[in-house]
Amino acid sequence: MECLFCQIANREKSSDVVWEDDEFFSFKDINPKSRIHVLVIPKRHIDSVSHMDGEDVPLIGNLFLAIQQIARNLGIQGSGYRLEINVGRGGGQIIDHLHVHLLAD
Ligand code: AMP
Ligand code: ZN
Repeated sequence: MECLFCQIANREKSSDVVWEDDEFFSFKDINPKSRIHVLVIPKRHIDSVSHMDGEDVPLIGNLFLAIQQIARNLGIQGSGYRLEINVGRGGGQIIDHLHVHLLAD
């Protein structure tokens, strides 16, 4: 059974796409908790922050640069935004594909 966010990143399942490059995919959260609520995911499946290792260090840096670019495109780079990463069930993670919530009021 394939992961929902892998399917979204592969465009096998539709989403409201915000941004994409070789390594990352960003789309609107289906149940927004702020005026702006998008998710940023690596295209490569990683379960969570707990499942990252040394090989993922470049990806982690690039992830923040992608977020910076997405915030710029959304026009919230100056006004500011929040990032949230839920890890594991106890941390509120429902979808087991690493994702960053980018939120702005
Ligand atoms: P988390 O609780 O950190 O695992 O967050 C999962 C997020 O994915 C929630 O905010 C959901 O609203 C969102 N979500 C679930 N299914 C979809 C979908 N098909 N398209 C967009 N967002 C989704
Ligand atoms: Zn996945």
